[in-house]
Amino acid sequence: MSRSLYWKITAPVAMIAAMGTLLIALSTPYLLEWYVTRTAVDGAEQLIETVRSIRNYYSANVMEKVACDDQFHVTAVHGQQCEGIPLPATFVMEMMGYSQRHTVTTNLVSPYPFANRAQRQMDAFQQRAWQAILQEPAQLYVELVKEEGQSAVRLAQADLLNAQACVDCHNTHPDSPRTDWRRGDVRGLMEVNTRVDTLLERGLWVSRTLMAIAVLAFALIMLVNMRAARRVSRPLVSITESLRQLSLGNTALTVDDRSSYLEVEALADAFESFSEKESQRKELAKQVTRLAYFDCLTGLANWTRFQQYVDELLLPGSEPVGGVCIVQLDVDHFSDINDTLGYDAADQVLGKLAERITEVAPADALVARLGEDTFALALKWLAGEAQPDLELLLTQLRVYIAEPLNVAERQLQLTVSIGSACACKGVITAEALMLQANVALGRAKLEGRDRAVMHSPQLSAAFSQRVEMVRALSLGVQQQEFVPFYQPQFDLHTGQLLGAEALMRWQRSDGQLVAPDQFIPLAEQSRLIVPMGAQILQRACEDCCRWQLLGLEQVGVAVNVSSVQFAEDDLVQLTRHILRQTGLAPALLELELTESATLADLDAVVVTLTQLRALGVELALDDFGTGYSSLSYLKLLPVNRLKIDRAFVRDLLNSPDDQAILRLIVGLGETLELRILAEGVEDEAQLNLLRHSGCLEVQGFYYARPLPFAEFVAFANSYQARWLAKQPVDGVDLPG
Ligand code: C2E
Ligand code: CA
Ligand code: CA
Repeated sequence: MSRSLYWKITAPVAMIAAMGTLLIALSTPYLLEWYVTRTAVDGAEQLIETVRSIRNYYSANVMEKVACDDQFHVTAVHGQQCEGIPLPATFVMEMMGYSQRHTVTTNLVSPYPFANRAQRQMDAFQQRAWQAILQEPAQLYVELVKEEGQSAVRLAQADLLNAQACVDCHNTHPDSPRTDWRRGDVRGLMEVNTRVDTLLERGLWVSRTLMAIAVLAFALIMLVNMRAARRVSRPLVSITESLRQLSLGNTALTVDDRSSYLEVEALADAFESFSEKESQRKELAKQVTRLAYFDCLTGLANWTRFQQYVDELLLPGSEPVGGVCIVQLDVDHFSDINDTLGYDAADQVLGKLAERITEVAPADALVARLGEDTFALALKWLAGEAQPDLELLLTQLRVYIAEPLNVAERQLQLTVSIGSACACKGVITAEALMLQANVALGRAKLEGRDRAVMHSPQLSAAFSQRVEMVRALSLGVQQQEFVPFYQPQFDLHTGQLLGAEALMRWQRSDGQLVAPDQFIPLAEQSRLIVPMGAQILQRACEDCCRWQLLGLEQVGVAVNVSSVQFAEDDLVQLTRHILRQTGLAPALLELELTESATLADLDAVVVTLTQLRALGVELALDDFGTGYSSLSYLKLLPVNRLKIDRAFVRDLLNSPDDQAILRLIVGLGETLELRILAEGVEDEAQLNLLRHSGCLEVQGFYYARPLPFAEFVAFANSYQARWLAKQPVDGVDLPG
């Protein structure tokens, strides 16, 4: 392109200049000739005119007067006769002969000379001129001739017989070769020869000088032209090259070749600002990519990039990859760090975690942060190679992550739950593989966190089942399929029916009755326990009101409250609302809370429990004896009752230790003014043992299983009737 632009600028000028020079060179000789001839002709014409005037004057004023005198006669040979007077022609010829200059000569010739000049012959020029002038007497006949190495402009003009006197004289003169002249005839030729050698020489010199000037001008024009062309084309080439580099993605350039032409300069400036804008655009694009594909906090790949990477690996036809393992790590109880140390510290923790994971991960693994506290690794292996040893890697990860971490002047020890899944290329999509790892992670969390679980087909099956179950549960909530069954509670001392515990059952649309242990854990995980619990509380309060009307005065109801419900729902508000709505006496309602619910944030728990007590409801601590009960904090909780778990009761007969603990609990109850109720009483032996240990409130299959509303009412009425009749109550007789 540069070449062509350069040549396009220089070539036309070169051509025009060369043509100009050539034209000058070629035309100068002709011009010169034309000029020389013209100059000679002008001179000759004047000369002829002068000669002609002199002859006319001579004919009219000299010759006629002299000839009248008989003493003289007009003759062509007057020189040899004393009385001879020259003829006008002779006079002219002789006069011209006298005045011959070196450069200009004149002559008078005719093919019809007077006798004395008969020997005079016309030369070739004169003959050509005679022929031409005979044809056209008015013309000037001119030739530039070269004779004997000398150049001369020869000019001939007709010499006419204009006056009658001349005609008569020529016809009558004895020496005249013809006697038939008429007026207007061409008598001869007047000729002027001008030697032009000097003129031509001078002209040649001028033309050579002109040529030299032309060549010089040509060279100068070419020089200027080439310089200008270079000054234009070089920056343009530089701009073009820079543009090409830009298109290849190289943005760090400037145009170093500047021109002094305003237009090119402006173009270079425009290009430079464009290239600056372009590099800004590139930088922006980079930032956008960074934002789109990388996590700002840790600098690791984000979810999008991670999935894209795994996709690329698993896609058929890409790298010779054998397969991929995905490892998902989730920090256990990360929200606690957020809550207690604040977001800044939590961010620092994530940063340090990212460092640790990256350190342990193999060099060719992609490390990503998928979500708040979820990290992931993608490990590939080549076709034909063995799968990586995940177990070793996961152990290393867990060990390193568990090392103490100093953040915000606190020392933390973190654990992670890990789920992993591996697949060979071509059998699964990235999305599905990530889901498998996620399912495994879910299982690790379910199993109590701080562990690694590898995905298996069974896991996926269980996962699908869970998904299906959650869907069914949610539908069940909408259709109010969760109903309370009631298990009566008794006072051993008086034999009185105290109340009943509401135990949830799932009455599915197909008539199936599902026990709570089969769905409550999932309901808690999916938080569906919140609406379910509210529904049960509502139903239990309504039922308890109906009992009062059905003759079961002072028979209360105990409702289980899940720890999830306790943490999430505004339990106080809900209870107040339901009590108001149903009109149930608050003292007839007891809420059973588990230890896990009360363990979270003791201060908040105490506040909630106090508010509940303020409503007038009773509170029981459920499953007592199974957990990690700390007796010291028991006295802080404003509860009315402890419920000894049925597992404890079951083992009681065979364990003297448990019997001792039971006595301790009873003693504690007395001290703290707590009532103690044992659940899961199945036989008389257990009952007796409890009675002897001082535990005077019981519930269990020994008396009754959890019953639907109507059956409970029937049971309770029959029991009340017998109790009022003071019949011995031994439970065994009662309906089970
Ligand atoms: P829980 O609160 O410890 O309830 C007592 C469980 O022991 C009930 O099981 C009851 O049927 C069972 N049981 C009572 N007496 C005996 C006995 O003599 N022998 C045996 N083997 N078992 C006895 P259920 O009804 O299957 O409930 C299981 C658990 O489900 C409950 O344990 C409670 O934690 C939970 N639950 C039940 N209903 C609700 C509810 O409405 N809300 C919440 N959050 N949890 C509930
Ligand atoms: Ca309970
Ligand atoms: Ca229990």
